[in-house]
Amino acid sequence: TELAQGTTASAPGDTELTRPAPAAVEVRDVHKWYGTHRVLNGVDLTVRPGEVTVILGPSGSGKSTLLRVINHLEKPEIGHVSVNGELIGVRRHGDRLKELNERTILAQRSRIGFVFQNFNLFPHLTVLDNVAAAPVATGRLGGEQARELARELLDRVGLADKSGAYPRQLSGGQQQRVAIARALALRPGVILFDEPTSALDPELVGEVLAVIKDLARTGTTLVIVTHEIGFAREIADRVVFIDGGRIVEQGPPSEVLDRPRHERTRDFLAKVL
Ligand code: ADP
Ligand code: MG
Repeated sequence: TELAQGTTASAPGDTELTRPAPAAVEVRDVHKWYGTHRVLNGVDLTVRPGEVTVILGPSGSGKSTLLRVINHLEKPEIGHVSVNGELIGVRRHGDRLKELNERTILAQRSRIGFVFQNFNLFPHLTVLDNVAAAPVATGRLGGEQARELARELLDRVGLADKSGAYPRQLSGGQQQRVAIARALALRPGVILFDEPTSALDPELVGEVLAVIKDLARTGTTLVIVTHEIGFAREIADRVVFIDGGRIVEQGPPSEVLDRPRHERTRDFLAKVL
C-alpha cells in the first residue's frame, strides 16, 4: 500500500541497518469538509526529502486546502499529516486521538515555508526586516545574526541592492523573491508554494521561476501548486493531478504530463497547455 511504501521504502544502497529518513511530508487519508461541502476526499501523498512535487488541478479542486492542511492552517476532519516525521494532529472518523497544543503547532509551522500567490509581505517593514523578522520572532537568532542571514538570502534571490526598500517600491516579481527569501530564513524542511506566479505580469514570471529552480537544484524540498506546465516538466520529480478533492494520478512528469492515463487529466492539460 501507499502507507507501507511511505514508511519502509529503501533507497538504492540502503542496508537493513540504515533507516530511511522520514518523509518530508506525509498525508494519509485526509478528508476536509466545510459543512456539507466536501473539499478533500481521502488524499494520500508522500514527499521525500529533497523531492520536488508539483500539484496540478482545476480551480476549486482542493489544492490550496491541501497546502493549508499541511501547514496546520486547516485541520482535517479525518486523516493525518506528518512533516519531517512529526505528527500534525490525528483524527480518525471524527474521533480526535491526539490534539497538539498551540505551541507545538507554531513550532512545527515555523519549520514549513509558505509562499503565497499575493506575496503577503509586511508593508511597513523594509525588505531586509521582512526577511529577518521571523527568525527573531521565533527566538532562533538575535537581531544582528538575523539581518546577516537576511542579507545572504537576499543576495541569493538577486535582491542584495533592495534591502532598504519597502515592498511597495518593488515589482511583483521582486516582492515574490523577497517572500521566498523570507520563507528560507526559517531554514524550513519543506517550502510550500501556492500559485507563486499567478498574480504576476507575464514578463515577471521567469525571474521567480528561476529562483525556485535554483532551490530545487540545491536539494530543497518543495511542494508547488502551479499552472506553469513547462516549468513543472522541467523541475518536478513528481506531478500530482488533483480533481474533486482526490488525487486522480501522480508520477514523473514524463508519465502524468506526456502520457496521462485519466480522461480528467487529459482534459485539464488540454485546457492549460
Ligand atoms: P483550489 O486551490 O484548487 O482552487 P481550494 O482548496 O481553494 O481550491 O478550494 C476548494 C473548495 O473548497 C472550493 O469549492 C472552495 O470554495 C472551498 N473552500 C475553500 N476554503 C473554504 C472555507 N474556508 N469555507 C468554505 N469553503 C471553502
Ligand atoms: Mg488555490
